[in-house]
Amino acid sequence: MPLLVQKYGGTSVGSIERIEAVADKVIVYKEQGNDMVIVLSAMSGETNRLMALASEITPKPKGRELDVLLTTGEQVTIALLAMALVKRGYPAKSYTGGQVRIVTDSAHNKARIKSIDNENIRKDLDEGTIVVVAGFQGVDEESNITTLGRGGSDTTGVALAAALEADECQIFTDVDGVYTTDPRVVPNATRLNTITFEEMLEMASLGSKVLQIRAVEFAQKYNVPLRVLSSFKAGEGTLITSEYEAGDIMEQALISGIAFNRDEAQLTVNGVSDTPGIAYKILGPISDANIEVDMILQNVSADGSTDFTFTVHRNDYDAALESLNKTAKELNARVVSGNNRIAKISIVGVGMRSHAGIASRMFELLAKEGINILMISTSEIKVSVVVDEKYLELGVRALHDGFELESES
Ligand code: ADP
Ligand code: ASP
Ligand code: MG
Repeated sequence: MPLLVQKYGGTSVGSIERIEAVADKVIVYKEQGNDMVIVLSAMSGETNRLMALASEITPKPKGRELDVLLTTGEQVTIALLAMALVKRGYPAKSYTGGQVRIVTDSAHNKARIKSIDNENIRKDLDEGTIVVVAGFQGVDEESNITTLGRGGSDTTGVALAAALEADECQIFTDVDGVYTTDPRVVPNATRLNTITFEEMLEMASLGSKVLQIRAVEFAQKYNVPLRVLSSFKAGEGTLITSEYEAGDIMEQALISGIAFNRDEAQLTVNGVSDTPGIAYKILGPISDANIEVDMILQNVSADGSTDFTFTVHRNDYDAALESLNKTAKELNARVVSGNNRIAKISIVGVGMRSHAGIASRMFELLAKEGINILMISTSEIKVSVVVDEKYLELGVRALHDGFELESES
């Protein structure tokens, strides 16, 4: 019997009515002859509400305790969906991550899945039971509750699909697929029928939160057929594939999508000596403070001194600035400056590999709008620029228009 793993996001289970609607939808697939494993998020807004409760107690809760708190959101929705299914006459059973035994490492708040014991689930499926699993959570080897990072239910869905060798992992959300860019910013963005794993990985890591990065990594690694669909609207959604189907190659756009990220901050230290080891001296303490650095730029001035600029997550800005100020003193740097009002815009597409001039076209389109570029970084299938955050929407729309990504209807 075919097996489907379906994940429903926060908006899709955001109220009792919506949970009842999910139950109806799941039954349709069950009646079509599929074994069903359902992964749920917490109701929309619930994880944020729980985080806010924690921060009323302390600004820095212990990761372990935060995970015990945050996982309650998903425990509510799985129980309610199982009840709704049973009410309709369909055997269903809910499981927390720990009950399945989704084993993760012990990195609280950003744990990685190490193994999944699928024995219970298999037994239930064999008996015709619909299995409902809490997303976003697991337990470590010592049975401490862990969470997988924001958006982590996507990863639970894909990991279960891989462990159970499901025929497809379907991510049901509030949009009907992956678009050329976030349709909330560009309403005439186009839904993509397919996107490659590579492109989806770039889009996700450059800020498109429609899928958690690790979910895409998992799907690629274990070759899980992955589809993004709407909970509210019928349609084929977007299939994430290893390669474009032959027919699509002819029409393949140079740019598949535009991603953006508002969560960045930039730091600069001017006038340090241009000597070996300088990058290490500046970035070593940043990394020791567990701060991830994204883009890095180093410029040697005419006088032989170096200016060094890098970006970090906006939440890490204060800590990074403190560390940099300290280092700057030790290095006799001229000045340290920072800007936490920046944003990153990226264009992504495997078509870039075989076409020159895409980056310069991007710069031209931004220049036409009078948008100043603060930093640039490129890879084989993407170009990213850092701009003042006030230009984010304007920049995304200009690029979307300029690369002709808008839908025709
Ligand atoms: P869920 O709660 O179902 O997990 P998310 O909010 O995590 O939903 O993800 C869906 C949202 O992702 C959409 O509402 C949309 O605003 C946003 N999004 C960002 N980039 C894209 C994109 N390229 N295509 C589709 N949606 C996108
Ligand atoms: N509820 C968690 C979050 O809001 C996990 C998820 O929805 O994927 O991040
Ligand atoms: Mg999500």
